[in-house]
Amino acid sequence: MAEPRILILGGPGAGKGTQSRKTSEEFNVKHITTGELLRANKDRDISEFESEYDVPRTYMDQGELVPDEVVTLLVKEALSQVNGFVLDGYPRNVEQAEELNNMTDVDDILYLDVDEEELVQRLTGRRIDPKTGDTYHIKYSPPEDPEVEKRLEQRDDDTEETVRERLRVFRETTEPVIEYYEERGQLERVDGKQSPDEVWVDVRKAIENAQ
Ligand code: AMP
Repeated sequence: MAEPRILILGGPGAGKGTQSRKTSEEFNVKHITTGELLRANKDRDISEFESEYDVPRTYMDQGELVPDEVVTLLVKEALSQVNGFVLDGYPRNVEQAEELNNMTDVDDILYLDVDEEELVQRLTGRRIDPKTGDTYHIKYSPPEDPEVEKRLEQRDDDTEETVRERLRVFRETTEPVIEYYEERGQLERVDGKQSPDEVWVDVRKAIENAQ
């Protein structure tokens, strides 16, 4: 089976990371996530680009988008090294969607559909184990091991104020991307409110059918 090229779209907290990791393992393709790429480059000097701030961190901690030029460069670099992939966190606006069109074809575009109140609950309760990168939720899925519980950390941008701003940015700039693909008949909606395992059943089926 050829390596699939998959796009997973969704609001912040919709489960893109979880479903992308599963996709990457099951279909043996590279997981490319702009959120992680940017977190690894948070303090990189980007003043050579047309940017308001000198480092990605300033945008991220305010819940704003990092300039297109910077993110597109990171995605281009990452895509040039792989055949199949699951791309998560990009495109976040219509300009990025057009950039992506010029870079590569994709086999399937999935949208994890979750309403906004649910996203707020998920994000503000989300905690990360810094040792393994595993994600937990203080109410819905706390860790069983008290040692793990003690070391859990909250992402800098998962505070209520930044979450509200990230959702506003999603509504205003990323929802048009959903419409962009829908108008082209390329978008496949998945009910993202289901449990992660149920969502995965739908995601896997969609990818298999797109092959
Ligand atoms: P995420 O982990 O996908 O929620 O991304 C965290 C933060 O990284 C976002 O709030 C943005 O500041 C930045 N970011 C991630 N992907 C992009 C993108 N495609 N374009 C611009 N900024 C991005």
